[in-house]
Amino acid sequence: MNNDRHLFSLNRRQILPALAGVAVLAGVQGARSADQPTQSRPAPTRDDILIRGASILTMDPQNPIFERGDILIRSGRIAAVDHSIDAPDAEVIDASDLIALPGFVNAHIHLWQSAMAGIAGDWSLDQYVQRILGGIGPHISAEDLYLANLAGCFEQVSAGTTTVFDYCHAINTPAHADRAVDALLESGVRSVFGYGPPGDWDWYADPNRDHPEDAARLRKERLSSDSGLVRMALAIRGPDESTLPATTRDIAMARRLGVIVTMHTGWGTVGPKNKAARQLADAGLLGPDINLVHANSFTASEYKAVVDSGATITVTPEVEMQMGMGFPATGHVRLAGGRPAVGTDIPTNVGPDMTTQIRIALQMQRALDNDRLLREGQDPKELTITVHEALEWATMAGARALGLDREIGSITKGKAADIQLIRKSPRDLGQAQNPAESVVFYSTAAQVESVFVNGKAQKWQGRLVNSAAHGLRDRLLQSGQRLIEQGLEKK
Ligand SMILES: [Zn+2]
Repeated sequence: MNNDRHLFSLNRRQILPALAGVAVLAGVQGARSADQPTQSRPAPTRDDILIRGASILTMDPQNPIFERGDILIRSGRIAAVDHSIDAPDAEVIDASDLIALPGFVNAHIHLWQSAMAGIAGDWSLDQYVQRILGGIGPHISAEDLYLANLAGCFEQVSAGTTTVFDYCHAINTPAHADRAVDALLESGVRSVFGYGPPGDWDWYADPNRDHPEDAARLRKERLSSDSGLVRMALAIRGPDESTLPATTRDIAMARRLGVIVTMHTGWGTVGPKNKAARQLADAGLLGPDINLVHANSFTASEYKAVVDSGATITVTPEVEMQMGMGFPATGHVRLAGGRPAVGTDIPTNVGPDMTTQIRIALQMQRALDNDRLLREGQDPKELTITVHEALEWATMAGARALGLDREIGSITKGKAADIQLIRKSPRDLGQAQNPAESVVFYSTAAQVESVFVNGKAQKWQGRLVNSAAHGLRDRLLQSGQRLIEQGLEKK
């Protein structure tokens, strides 16, 4: 990827549709689809809540589906899941028209790009890197980062995601890191903050440079807890964007700080040349605290080495397919005995909902698997992957990638009450027969009725609860407009 900043520019005609995208994003705070009920009651405030009569997709292998069941929440945790629960002291939510499932885990997103939705839909990876990291990234202020992270979190929770991994590679000053974390904390969403490099492609010019030392300050001063709603991680460059010695030092830093570490790997033509997984395996660096994003071009033995080490792989299907990164690694990860986590990746051209990403990952992998048989002259007699498994990618596999699988990812007694309620009846389509298919194939954010994080309503009857969402729209619009003009137009 060359670093010629003069290769690109967007004119005003190109920018106006981009800003329309910003408006769409900003509108989420008041979003409510027309077919939702007009009668509303206040969001539950009690510590004890009984979700009654829902179709439950627990994503817990011990007890995966209740056709009709109750969930008892006590003080933010799941106290019981059963066919019928008697809890006279609890505040009751009638969920007879709803499907309950764990909140999604978005295992890879760059929230800092949330004010610039709709600018990158025609870009290749090379154009994206030059325009975002070469063009816009250096102009991101700490306040831009705060606004984008806050709005991005609200978009996520509105679409049923309760945990985000924020790969933040726009930390131009320590104040940027602090404001990004401020937004995550204020959002009410569970998150892992991946402390990354500055948002300037020039920073990548020295591949032997160490990760910013300020990450240690943030860990000590702001994110020292390993049980809070916002946790810390390192988002490093890794072997495909830096030298192996630099990667080794960066991973050592993460382990010194006691946090997980993530990196982009194995995409495009860079992947097969650099062999990031092989480098990491040979250096003895793989382990359960390592998360590799994309991983499109590993060999079968490299996928196996990654999975066997306990390291995880996150796919971001829509971005990978558009930008020339290669086919999503979904099938390879499965063959190696693992399950992929899934992320939406870049808000500059991908919508917030995880159902779109798992639907794309599922159907693309089915197409590849079916095609293999067709090429051998056989019609597929059955499909290779179930819809229910695709939901697992967006819940348990994501939780595992973030080191949070003992706390979230399934509706299991003792876990945090991170739960979403999705309407059974998609608009104008009647009721889908199978709750997993209803969620994966028919749902968007518009069908997400209510979302709880730690048992606290963040979206209730179609509306965001957090008052911080109010008044964001204009500030976000201004931020996006300024960044696009400074970063792209005035090059
Ligand atoms: Zn990414």
